[in-house]
Amino acid sequence: MARITIVGGGVIGLSIAYECQKRGHDMTIVEAEECGGQASGAAAGMLAPYSEIEEDPDDFFRLCQRSLQLFPAWQNEIKLAAQVDFEYNESGSLYCIFHEADRLSLETKKAWQEKFGVESYLLSGNDIREKEPELSQEIVAGLWCPEESHIYAPDYVSALLQACRNTGVRVIEHAGEATLGDDNVVLAEHYEIEADYTVIATGAWTMNWEEKLGCSLPVYPIRGQICAYEGPSLQHIIFTSQGYLVAKENGSLVAGASEDIAGFNTDITAHGIGRLEKWSKKIVPKLIKETPFHTWAGLRPATQDGFPLIGRLQHNPKIILATGHYRNGILLSPVTAKIIADEIEGKAQELAIDDFRPERFQLT
Ligand SMILES: Cc1cc2nc3c(=O)[nH]c(=O)nc-3n(C[C@H](O)[C@H](O)[C@H](O)COP(=O)(O)OP(=O)(O)OC[C@H]3O[C@@H](n4cnc5c(N)ncnc54)[C@H](O)[C@@H]3O)c2cc1C
Repeated sequence: MARITIVGGGVIGLSIAYECQKRGHDMTIVEAEECGGQASGAAAGMLAPYSEIEEDPDDFFRLCQRSLQLFPAWQNEIKLAAQVDFEYNESGSLYCIFHEADRLSLETKKAWQEKFGVESYLLSGNDIREKEPELSQEIVAGLWCPEESHIYAPDYVSALLQACRNTGVRVIEHAGEATLGDDNVVLAEHYEIEADYTVIATGAWTMNWEEKLGCSLPVYPIRGQICAYEGPSLQHIIFTSQGYLVAKENGSLVAGASEDIAGFNTDITAHGIGRLEKWSKKIVPKLIKETPFHTWAGLRPATQDGFPLIGRLQHNPKIILATGHYRNGILLSPVTAKIIADEIEGKAQELAIDDFRPERFQLT
């Protein structure tokens, strides 16, 4: 049994804490403010790697696919451990195109993903509207991915926190910005926590650790602005090249999301939300007279090469990083938790994780 401190109580820190506590370790989470109060609580909750990843297959695609496969059992386990329910919807997705010229890229994506066992169907515009009658007549074709799903992220994160508490994780919120002292002791306001391992799961704030950890950690905040309408209800996640729509059980239709460079500013801008409005109305013409009833933003942790930072530091093996999940942190929460728990226990990894090693950005 190891004593493990996790710095950062977002979806990644909470998932790791739950998984490790379940395996018998003694877990503490130190969160500067409130658990789930940053990117994790702001997310649209899509578990949609096949729509998100356009490029060729790589170990990141495999990581995302594995996490999607883990999700049905994982979310069930979290519900049982937390003794609360949250929305998990195996809705499938429709990736819609407005121009014939984009058909080739859909076909190409379908072809390479099929080799990985992904189920998908190329549909005509009319077939798409048969599945979703509210969608625009301008949509000429689309890719239906029945395996993609979504959850209600704020409730999922609250349930993870409750699952941690119920299983005995010590959760310290409002601790201020924690840092590291000598011998890897975690220092926070009013706390000095000794541990065998420390996991840094600080999302968009990870660059602050560069000096302390003595290595380059190029993780940048990318603001995502997002909004919600009251209905109409859609059965599938709807993707386009410029944005997505996802209908939640509570009657809201979430439209996302911008990708802005704005430092650590989480303000909403008229330009950012205006662009989302324009696109949602193009996808669902019925929204033309509607105005979003809710707007918000969060900071995605983006890395220099687009891959997360997962694993221990070679030059300080008691420090483990789990950060930089950018647009897919909700999706990647179960697989990250299992990889980090296996890494701490010295178990062989089921997936190749060398591309995600945190020290890959060093010059030497
Ligand atoms: C608008 C939007 C939509 C998104 N949609 C999706 C989606 O549909 N699907 C998906 O999979 N992903 C989505 N994402 C991405 C996802 O939200 C992130 O990848 C994920 O939440 C990152 O989780 P995290 O735990 O690393 O970071 P965070 O949730 O940001 O948590 C990091 C925590 O660390 C704390 N912290 C930082 N520094 C310190 C310190 N020194 N001491 C103590 N605590 C500290 C912070 O306070 C914070 O609570 C979306 C993101 C946004 C913004």
